[in-house]
Amino acid sequence: MIQGPTSRFGEFLGQHEPVPAPVIFWFRRDLRLADHPALAQAAAAGPVVPVFLLDEKLRSTSGAARLAYLSACLESLNADIGGHLVIRSGDPSTALQQLCRDTGATTIYATDDFAPYGRSRDTGVGTAFADAGLEVHYRDSNYAVPPGSVFTGGGTSYKVFTPFFRAWKTHGWADPQGRIDADWVTGVTSEGIPAAPTVAADLPAAGERAAWERAEAFLDGPVFSYDDARNNPGIEGTSRLSPHLKWGTIHPRQLLARLGPDPSEDVFRSEICWREFYAEVLFNRPDSARQAFAPKMAAMEVDTGTHADERFQRWCDGQTGYPIVDAGMRQLRAEGWMHNRVRMIVGSFLVKDLHLDWTRGARWFMDQLVDGDLASNNHGWQWVAGTGTDASPYFRIFNPMNQSRKFDPTGRYLRRWVPEIAHMTDKDIHEPWSCKAGAPAGYPGPIVDHGAERNESLARYDRLKQTWA
Ligand SMILES: Cc1cc2nc3c(=O)[nH]c(=O)nc-3n(C[C@H](O)[C@H](O)[C@H](O)COP(=O)(O)OP(=O)(O)OC[C@H]3O[C@@H](n4cnc5c(N)ncnc54)[C@H](O)[C@@H]3O)c2cc1C
Repeated sequence: MIQGPTSRFGEFLGQHEPVPAPVIFWFRRDLRLADHPALAQAAAAGPVVPVFLLDEKLRSTSGAARLAYLSACLESLNADIGGHLVIRSGDPSTALQQLCRDTGATTIYATDDFAPYGRSRDTGVGTAFADAGLEVHYRDSNYAVPPGSVFTGGGTSYKVFTPFFRAWKTHGWADPQGRIDADWVTGVTSEGIPAAPTVAADLPAAGERAAWERAEAFLDGPVFSYDDARNNPGIEGTSRLSPHLKWGTIHPRQLLARLGPDPSEDVFRSEICWREFYAEVLFNRPDSARQAFAPKMAAMEVDTGTHADERFQRWCDGQTGYPIVDAGMRQLRAEGWMHNRVRMIVGSFLVKDLHLDWTRGARWFMDQLVDGDLASNNHGWQWVAGTGTDASPYFRIFNPMNQSRKFDPTGRYLRRWVPEIAHMTDKDIHEPWSCKAGAPAGYPGPIVDHGAERNESLARYDRLKQTWA
């Protein structure tokens, strides 16, 4: 069943070299060849059988855009390793043991996973392999500083970002390594890369080369104005590297190694750290993926029933009548991505203007986002909802019109995503219903009154606080 790798099977002066046993490298969220310590270790141990497993548990919780993007990442990786990527499906433990039987491998390497499902899956694979007399080695992580590596002076894990950022920088990270030149084992039976589902979204380019093109374009210029530009959704002021970081077509170490002392570069460094902070928080509190990190916020009153469902649908469809909210929700559908500032605005609107549970919004985001990541998404939502770790208390309620005026002053972002109001003046476009002519035909009036719903939210918060006494 296996052919090659030829370099290890050569003869020299009539003597056969010993043939090292193949090892398996299990690609997961690390779909690249450069700066890859776990793959480097596998390559040093023997010829490598590269495999990606189609795990139903992960597939069923990923939306079509993310699955389409994953297929494109796998195509790119497969091309980079000469078409030898093996795709298998089924229960990971069973599928990997079958692959061991097929190839004669007895050892598997993989990058360590720190998210709740990944941890339990990997523990299960480890136990099953030990029982079968096989070895599995989890190395490195998808973070510059693996979760569980930095602690407060009191030895506890961090729950607040700023001191974590300081400790994270002090801890530091390894320099990136070069590209791995493995002896890939050829001819192993593969189910083939799954066809990308058809999606309406216009997805970004996938793969390691695309990641570097985007990183170079950002690091060569825009990073120096990132501090100012990153909040304006109407301009390309951020890196748009999140899908690449999600799938590991680039590693944060590789980006951090390119950053210098410029204050704007330090702001970008801190954003990379937010991703690591949320991974750390989820690692320490796996339950916070689904429920309030701050238990006292768990009992906040939320609306349910048909009326709430109708409001939720209008939010998903970008039909709330609030231009900045609708623009964001339409960008999400069209690109599988949304600008960070707008993620915060639409999140606040769902929770504090529509009074819906943050988990509904988080699920919709996970369905739609190409960069959908449990730690960043669900903790981003908890930040917005005021149920999470950090300094965004529940009573801080975003005013969508003011946010829009401040961060998209000329309405460039609004005009792009809400064409119904594109003709309006810079002054009127943020609040179409308030201008003399009212909201244009074809664009809905506001789904709720922001001022009234703000008061309602604060009243609910007051009622909740009374239960804490
Ligand atoms: C409600 C909500 C949900 C979110 N869901 C996700 C998600 O599923 N996946 C995801 O990667 N990010 C998520 N974020 C964080 C952030 O919005 C995106 O990382 C960012 O918009 C990606 O665009 P970028 O690559 O251009 O970011 P840049 O501004 O260029 O930042 C560089 C990188 O830093 C990281 N980063 C930046 N801001 C944050 C942040 N607030 N939290 C965590 N990491 C950050 C990302 O990896 C990002 O790619 C969410 C934020 C909110 C408020």
